Amino acid sequence: MIRDYQACLERTRAVMLGKEPDRVPLYFLTSEDVAARITGLTVREMISSPEVLADKTIMVNNFLGCDNMALVTNAYCGPFEGLAYARANGREDVFVWKDYTTPFIREGLLCQTEEDIENLVIPDHSQTEPWPTFFKAIKIIQEKTGMGHQLGPSLTWSNVQMLRGSQAYLDVKLNPDLLMKLCEKIYASQWDYYEAYCKMAGQPVSAFECSYAFNRHMLSFEDAWKFEGQFIARFARETKLPLIIHNCGFKPYHIELIEKLWEEGVSVIALNASHPLDIDWWVDFRKRFPDITIMGGLHVSAEMENGTEEDVENRVKAFIKKLGPQGRLIITPTCCMPWRVPMYNIKAVTHAVEKYGKYPIDID
Ligand SMILES: [Zn+2]
Repeated sequence: MIRDYQACLERTRAVMLGKEPDRVPLYFLTSEDVAARITGLTVREMISSPEVLADKTIMVNNFLGCDNMALVTNAYCGPFEGLAYARANGREDVFVWKDYTTPFIREGLLCQTEEDIENLVIPDHSQTEPWPTFFKAIKIIQEKTGMGHQLGPSLTWSNVQMLRGSQAYLDVKLNPDLLMKLCEKIYASQWDYYEAYCKMAGQPVSAFECSYAFNRHMLSFEDAWKFEGQFIARFARETKLPLIIHNCGFKPYHIELIEKLWEEGVSVIALNASHPLDIDWWVDFRKRFPDITIMGGLHVSAEMENGTEEDVENRVKAFIKKLGPQGRLIITPTCCMPWRVPMYNIKAVTHAVEKYGKYPIDID
């Protein structure tokens, strides 16, 4: 099954420009678990060379039938940024490889003490693997398909948690200056990631920014802004890139974050999230922010994990019915799809988008 890449691109472009596409686009955030199932390869086999990684990425995205081209080893600065930190600091012992799922760094071990934070070495993203392999793969994918840009910084909270662990939550109250020092180092590393990305994969048109601190059960909005938000705004201003905000938490500060970013002069073109699950909340969001593309619709731990194919279809149908007619909608299950999500429920999303997403939307 070969996808029409040009049609995928035009569909997405129309939505982002506020025009009517032929149908609602579909994006999947693939990642290691689903890629291992489809390719039959281990994570380390998938990243054994840029050519293999590019080839398997195209294979997986074609199989899923989506309109994007997500690298099968997630290119955002989460787990693999942890690996780069482990390597740059001569501490590969704190990184845990997994064969058929996402590997991870043991949290809080690289920055246990103040001295650790002072001495933390920032990875050189044009040299420290797996980043050069990822960037070269993105370049190959673009040459073959015209798709595949995916600059995914994480400023800063996922990195704070990887490096400092749960101690960071005490630092917010007891040791804010030290935590700020760590955030500045993370910013410097994310800037290096951005420069290496541009050099090796080309200039992206937007940044897919992960905003993990912005959830009510994590931090107050003020603290989330202080230790994450201001770095997101700085990155957007310095790169001049518009942002797609990703937030897969359960109690997100979507409205507050977008309004604050606007105040700071940052352009937010899309919101990738699934919570709140109440579809009417998204109808209100659409009224409030008519120019922001909604990339969501269903959560991977709801119908996709626990429901039937019919449940998945009905959820996608209901979302498209209420939010499709006004445009600016990309169905995107959030977040990455873990092993617990059955393959038939993943395919059910694709079938439902094809069945109900054609414009003009006509669902009774
Ligand atoms: Zn996520």
